[in-house]
Amino acid sequence: MTAYIMHKHHLSVDEALEFVKAQRKLVFPNAGFIAQLHLFCLMNWQLDENNLQYRLYKLYTTAKQVQKDKQFAVVVSTFFTDEITPSQFHFKCKKCRYEEALFSEMSVFPHDVGKTLHWNINACSIGNPICNQGLLIRPLPWMQEAKEATAGKLNCPHCGAKIGSFDWNGSKCPCGARMEPIFYISVEKVDEVPPN
Ligand SMILES: [Zn+2]
Ligand SMILES: [Zn+2]
Repeated sequence: MTAYIMHKHHLSVDEALEFVKAQRKLVFPNAGFIAQLHLFCLMNWQLDENNLQYRLYKLYTTAKQVQKDKQFAVVVSTFFTDEITPSQFHFKCKKCRYEEALFSEMSVFPHDVGKTLHWNINACSIGNPICNQGLLIRPLPWMQEAKEATAGKLNCPHCGAKIGSFDWNGSKCPCGARMEPIFYISVEKVDEVPPN
């Protein structure tokens, strides 16, 4: 509701909270709620599907749902897809080089070495080294294993080669960066195909 008011009247986070407080006598929004408003603020009040922090937010809230309901299959198939276009970098299994790419750059979460990925923390900051040790990506429909268990290995859907691992409850990239949930692809197991 507050986000809607902010959008409509082009208010800052503080102004919007003042506005809401004036409407209702007691408003004590929790930290998560304020952070959400900041997220909307960062995105100029538009839900940009490609915004990194927004993608982290969507993934995190989905994982919370999955942890509660264990509806892995439904969640992965319904919410997460990857439209791979020729203008994007995409990634193929190194072993079988199957024609159809496994994922595109749009599914990758770039991050600073050792820095926790969370929708409320900027994943990348100027001057810090970017992790090149692992590819953290969103869950995708071909991840059969991620539809059946809380944690495990990820295999290429075409040749069965082990290419990574996942954990709906979160884990760490080899660089030390924590992410919840995590879908990790080893950089040695995939080939990066540049846009054509
Ligand atoms: Zn393969
Ligand atoms: Zn990393």
